[in-house]
Amino acid sequence: MLVLRGRDANGRNRSPPPRCILCDGRDLRRSRRFTGRSWQTWDCEDCDLAFVWPMPTKLEISAAYQGYSRVAEETANESEYTSDRFIVDLLTSLFRAGGTTVLDIGCSTGGFLETAKTTGWKGTGIEIDAAAATLTANRLNLDVKVGDALDLLPSLGRFDLVAASHTLEHVVSPGQLFAEIGRHVNPGGHILARVPNSRSRAAILLRKRWNWYRPPVHLSYFSERSFEVAAARARLKIRSVTTRRGPAHLFPTELLLATARIVSGEAAYQDTVKGNAGPTVVSSRFLSWVDRRMLAQGYFGKHDDSELAVLLENAGEK
Ligand SMILES: [Zn+2]
Repeated sequence: MLVLRGRDANGRNRSPPPRCILCDGRDLRRSRRFTGRSWQTWDCEDCDLAFVWPMPTKLEISAAYQGYSRVAEETANESEYTSDRFIVDLLTSLFRAGGTTVLDIGCSTGGFLETAKTTGWKGTGIEIDAAAATLTANRLNLDVKVGDALDLLPSLGRFDLVAASHTLEHVVSPGQLFAEIGRHVNPGGHILARVPNSRSRAAILLRKRWNWYRPPVHLSYFSERSFEVAAARARLKIRSVTTRRGPAHLFPTELLLATARIVSGEAAYQDTVKGNAGPTVVSSRFLSWVDRRMLAQGYFGKHDDSELAVLLENAGEK
């Protein structure tokens, strides 16, 4: 096979990234936390973001999403939001504090917007998957724009709350999207960002076998510090940082999944071209059953910090 000088086996340019894709920092190192054969990952020393570089091409990204239906995946978890006390309590308290309009970026099949609607909010969605967008718009009778958030946001106004749940890690330019989101929040309004926690116990322990290390579907990996740096740049104030299980499995179940992968010899995610292959060694239905059994046995969950949920405020003048 012809391999061009300075290019990897897939023909991608091997040059190091010029800047961090979140904070523009230049102090970048090859990641020792997450790295693999097909996808290299770099760490930013300034904001602690780990990100895939070289960035996959549009073709590689769309290939990774082939056969990935948000409708199929998300309708299975429809109750994730409506039964999520953290989300319900947050929406209720922000609504009581005067918020009325919410934009959900990457709204998928509308679980978050549905919860927002039942707590009194007027919702708008942005969704790249047309089938999921149509389903949400029809089901909840609200406006869902179809397309890329960076293309759509400039035509939208400001909101009291902008949510981006498990969206930022999928985009090629998270810094640009984060800054754009900041421009669409009313003074006194909030942003809720939820991402996989790259400094969670599972991520530290499992590294490239961490269930959420999934290039090229997940392109960047955030920690609390990533948001501190991004918030300062966008002149936003961090109001709260919560780590929790989120849509991950329980911590022991994550360990079980990783063990199954090692024992079966299945390559870690970065070595699969179809990045969103999902748990293939053991079925996710089985893993959910393990989760339920553990919870029924009184599992306490103090190690469940797989998700980082950050609430930020536009503290500018009203
Ligand atoms: Zn950075």
